[in-house]
Amino acid sequence: MEFSINKEYVLNTAKELLEFNSPSGFCFKIMDMIEDKVKNIGYKFERTNKGCGVITIDGRSDEKVIGLSAHVDTLGAMVRSITSKGTLKFTLIGGPIVPTLDSEYCTIRTRDGREYTGTFLSESAAVHVYEDATSKKRDPENMEIRIDEVVKNKDDVKNLGISVGDFIFIDPKTTITESGFVKSRFIDDKGSVACLLSLLELFKRESIVPSYKTKIFISTYEEVGHGSSYIPSDITEMIAVDMGCIGLDLECTEYDVSICAKDSGGPYDYNMVTDLVNLSEDNNISYAIDIYPRYGSDVGAALRGGNNIRGALIGPGVHASHGMERTHYNALENTIKLLCLYLTK
Ligand SMILES: [Zn+2]
Repeated sequence: MEFSINKEYVLNTAKELLEFNSPSGFCFKIMDMIEDKVKNIGYKFERTNKGCGVITIDGRSDEKVIGLSAHVDTLGAMVRSITSKGTLKFTLIGGPIVPTLDSEYCTIRTRDGREYTGTFLSESAAVHVYEDATSKKRDPENMEIRIDEVVKNKDDVKNLGISVGDFIFIDPKTTITESGFVKSRFIDDKGSVACLLSLLELFKRESIVPSYKTKIFISTYEEVGHGSSYIPSDITEMIAVDMGCIGLDLECTEYDVSICAKDSGGPYDYNMVTDLVNLSEDNNISYAIDIYPRYGSDVGAALRGGNNIRGALIGPGVHASHGMERTHYNALENTIKLLCLYLTK
C-alpha cells in the first residue's frame, strides 16, 4: 500500500501540542484545541464525562470496532502550600524525574486564570551560601518554587491570587532541530497524539478508509493511572499508542516504532503483537520488539477497568522518559505507517 506522510503537519502538530500546558487534571483546554483540529480535518469528535476525546472513523465494515488510544495529559505539579518567605511548596502530578526539575522554569495558574512564572529550585540554591548546594537531595521536601513577583511573605503571594491547589505547568522547552529531533518534555505521550492526528490528516488527504470502524481515544489522567479506565464499549481490540522505552538491554532507538510484547501488567495480546511485527517486517518499517520493565499503558488501564478487549502497545522510541525527552521524526513516521497498515489490513 502506498501513502505519503506529511512531515510538516506531523512536526507542527507535535510542536503545538507539546507547547500547550496539560498536566493530568487540566486537559479541558487542550481537548478544545484537539476538537478543533479533528473537526477541521473532517471527523466526528465526542467527549466522555471525564473529558477524554473520542474520534470516530467509519470503516469498510462495522463487524468490529478497533480502538487506538494516546494520552494528552502530562506530568506537572500543584501548589501544596505557601511558605512564610513567599515561596511555594509543591506536590507532584505523575512521576517526573525530580532532579531534572531543579532550575526548571514553570508557570503557576491561579483558579481565576492569572498566570505567573517561576522556577523550581533547591532550598539550598546558592553555592556561595549553602554547603549542601550540590549534594542536597532534589525532592519536593527539599525544593521550592521561586515566583517572579515581588513577594516577601505568605500574604504577598495570596494577594497575587495564588492558592493551594493551583496548577503548576513545567516548561516543556520544545525544540525541533534541523536534524529532525524533537526534544521536549512530555513527548510521552504528545508525540503519539501528534501521530494519531497525523493519521487522520493522512486518511482524509488520501481518502483512505480503514477496514473496520475505528475509534481514536484521546485519554486524560493516564499519568495518574486511570486514563482509559472507561473506553467506548463497542471497542473489541485496542492499540495503546504510547512512548517506546529506550535503555538498558532494550533494542528500541529514537528512530524506531517500538512494539511492546510485555510490560509491568504482563504480556500483550499475542496475535495482535504478531500482526504488528509482521506488518513492520513486510513493509520495511524500522521497529523493535521490547519488554518494558517499569511501565503501564492505556490498555492496562482499560483491562483493569473491566473492558472486554484484547490489546497491544506501540509507539515512537523516546529517550530519557519523564526527564528531558527526545525522539526523532523517523520514529513518529514509523509509528504512523504501522498504524495505517494495521487499520487497512
Ligand atoms: Zn505515556
